[in-house]
Amino acid sequence: MSDNHTSIVSEKTNINNTKELGEKVLQFLIERKIIEEKLTDCTLGVLGYKPGSNFLSVLEKQNGDFLNLGVNGLEVITKRTVFHSNGENLEGIYCPNCKQNQIEKNWSNALDSWYNKSNSDLIKCSNCSYENSITKFIFEPNWAFGDFGLVFWNWGKFKNQFFTDLEKVIGTEIKVIYGKV
Ligand SMILES: [Zn+2]
Repeated sequence: MSDNHTSIVSEKTNINNTKELGEKVLQFLIERKIIEEKLTDCTLGVLGYKPGSNFLSVLEKQNGDFLNLGVNGLEVITKRTVFHSNGENLEGIYCPNCKQNQIEKNWSNALDSWYNKSNSDLIKCSNCSYENSITKFIFEPNWAFGDFGLVFWNWGKFKNQFFTDLEKVIGTEIKVIYGKV
């Protein structure tokens, strides 16, 4: 069986305080009993937080019998990561200026530069010649580039109110990426 995830990503966090931000968001989620306090083996490979007694308050509806799945936790990511949909193939990478598909470009250098936090993560559009950071291009299916993210495994569909509440706690806009592996 494949596992679905909902990744809630901040692309605008201060890179130096993602650990503290992680603590703050965890406290928010634990106080509301959306997740359990204890780290357990409930995600893919790393420790995570299982759904708490009040998990249903943030979901549109319960995702089948996900409480009985081995993979149903929250993984908190506090390091530079590209969040994407995994199972799906990339169909297009569109220039933020002229919207032309630039998927044929060589993206690996710009991606490496972004990971290494160097300033050369720019890609020049072959159509309009504008240069933009790789993070500004529009990926289809959607990608997010961030230093902070919450990955909920197999939780299903969240209420919009939950995203609004998280934006307040995190202090930036968030981007939501749906995917499966
Ligand atoms: Zn362009």
